[in-house]
Amino acid sequence: MIISMVSQATQEEVEYVCNKIKSFGYTAHPIQGEERVVIGAVGDGKEKDHIISVMESVPGVESVIPISQPFKLVGKELKKEKTVIQIDDFSIGGDEFVVMAGPCSVEFREQLFTTAENVKAAGAKVLRGGAYKPRTSPYDFQGLEEEGLKILAEAREKTGLKIITEIISTENVELVNEYTDIFQVGARNMQNFALLKKLGKTKRPVLLKRGLMATLKEFLMSAEYIVSQGNPEVILCERGIRTFETYTRNTLDISAVPALHYLSHLPVIVDPSHGTGKRPLIAPVSNAAVAAGADGLLVEVHPKPEEAFSDGAQSLLPSEFQELMDGVKRYVSVDGRKL
Ligand code: PEP
Ligand code: MN
Repeated sequence: MIISMVSQATQEEVEYVCNKIKSFGYTAHPIQGEERVVIGAVGDGKEKDHIISVMESVPGVESVIPISQPFKLVGKELKKEKTVIQIDDFSIGGDEFVVMAGPCSVEFREQLFTTAENVKAAGAKVLRGGAYKPRTSPYDFQGLEEEGLKILAEAREKTGLKIITEIISTENVELVNEYTDIFQVGARNMQNFALLKKLGKTKRPVLLKRGLMATLKEFLMSAEYIVSQGNPEVILCERGIRTFETYTRNTLDISAVPALHYLSHLPVIVDPSHGTGKRPLIAPVSNAAVAAGADGLLVEVHPKPEEAFSDGAQSLLPSEFQELMDGVKRYVSVDGRKL
């Protein structure tokens, strides 16, 4: 349920309401809006009518209304204003368009450092690179693991870029947390609920990719797992879904961008690399992502795609990435945003 406080409610009144709702076995998630505090109260729904009538009579409470959607905390019913995630000197979900770019996998120092310098020069804010790779075949390159995390951290030192890397298991949350600025949860782990819960207990932004076969409702329920554990900083990422089409690697669902913005206050970014799997399609789809209202992009870039350990066919050369950024900038300015 949504408990709206009166605009002049005091801090003590807000705390009292939170404690009162907790006494019914609910969790309380206060959100400071522009005018008033709104408290998201989430519980099992038992004795809901009784709890609503009690909460309506608590001093400082203006109204109490049930939330109809199953995704209580990430939905627009609770919070109309967009969530803006501040990461050092830039933010995701506000008026900036944030591009994250880099190789699919961290392979060795030279590869990552060259890519990092290039994507930075082209205007990327975040360097991507997988150190733990969830590969379809157990015989394929599985990632450099901690060695890869160290190389990513060195690249951050050298360039000032922030880093994003994939987390594939609950076992590695503490370790990856020591290195990364943003956790990436891959499509294959979108419903790894134990992992989502553990990430929900951290204080780091989580980029959550849409599962290969996930509906938007399932996608938002996964985001709800993270937020319900206390971490409100979730970035949704549309990376294509599996359909009958085989020409492209996946079918990028461009309508997911406005649909997710309609349903949720969380930032939405697009991964045109996994979304298409084909180098010539990545720039046009990136432009479409801007037009559809995306808050940013996640793009694979490699200095020698033909030698890449993974996803070479969809990795852009640094020069191609520069062209993509030049094109995207034009659309971003039409949209009234900054890049
Ligand atoms: C990746 O970003 O390299 C990756 C494995 O992506 P996805 O989880 O979308 O397949
Ligand atoms: Mn990849």
